[in-house]
Amino acid sequence: MDIRFLGAHNCETSTIKLATLLIDDTLAIDAGALTSSLSIEAQLQLKAVLLTHQHYDHIRDIPAIAMNALFYETDIHVYSTKAVQEALATHWLNGTTYANFLEKPEGNPRIKFTIIEPNQAFQIDAYKILAVPVNHSVPTVGYQITSPDGKVFFYTADTGPGLAECWQYVSPQLLITEVTAPNRYEAFGRRSLHLTPNLLKDELVSFQKLKGYLPPVVLVHMNPRQEKEIEAEIAALAEELGTGITLAYEGLQINL
Ligand SMILES: [Zn+2]
Ligand SMILES: [Zn+2]
Repeated sequence: MDIRFLGAHNCETSTIKLATLLIDDTLAIDAGALTSSLSIEAQLQLKAVLLTHQHYDHIRDIPAIAMNALFYETDIHVYSTKAVQEALATHWLNGTTYANFLEKPEGNPRIKFTIIEPNQAFQIDAYKILAVPVNHSVPTVGYQITSPDGKVFFYTADTGPGLAECWQYVSPQLLITEVTAPNRYEAFGRRSLHLTPNLLKDELVSFQKLKGYLPPVVLVHMNPRQEKEIEAEIAALAEELGTGITLAYEGLQINL
């Protein structure tokens, strides 16, 4: 399974993009860096876009990719929980801020939406997918993806502390999660439900206790201004836990 990080941060400039994953060129998780990273051919090749939650940095390119789908006369298949679909329908695809691609063109809307239920496995082609709720400021799910040849990764999406419940349902060979800020921002992390290196440590310790192993960990959603500080704290944490923890970057490709 080929995992490409189209974006790895929580902010955007000309060189950094919003956290977005592309799997085997066919599945995307989140839409913060889809249209800005992919050629039109690559966009049209997508089988599905899985959304984790309704925050702007994760849904940003849904209207844009729907507009491309309209002009290229194709469909874009989007999967999310009811909460995310409702947020998109109410605030963005409402005929006011942008066209309502959930209903337009009439009778054959360009966005084909599938509402998913947390903790109920489903399949897209030969990929097995499980959405697992995590602890964030709006309803959020992480996704465990199992490839046709049995490779498994879990992406927590944006999350704060408290993943012990979620670990019960997943058994990844690779864990992709977030660290938004360095340790001195722990109060911010607890308040806004994001992780710092120290908060991540608690979650990894609880994973290891429950599952008896620690997979390699790749991080996204870093605040670019504090990335050097995060990187140093993560290097110390990786050494302490004896496992590989690395920061993703735009264009990073992992073959699982
Ligand atoms: Zn968020
Ligand atoms: Zn975010």
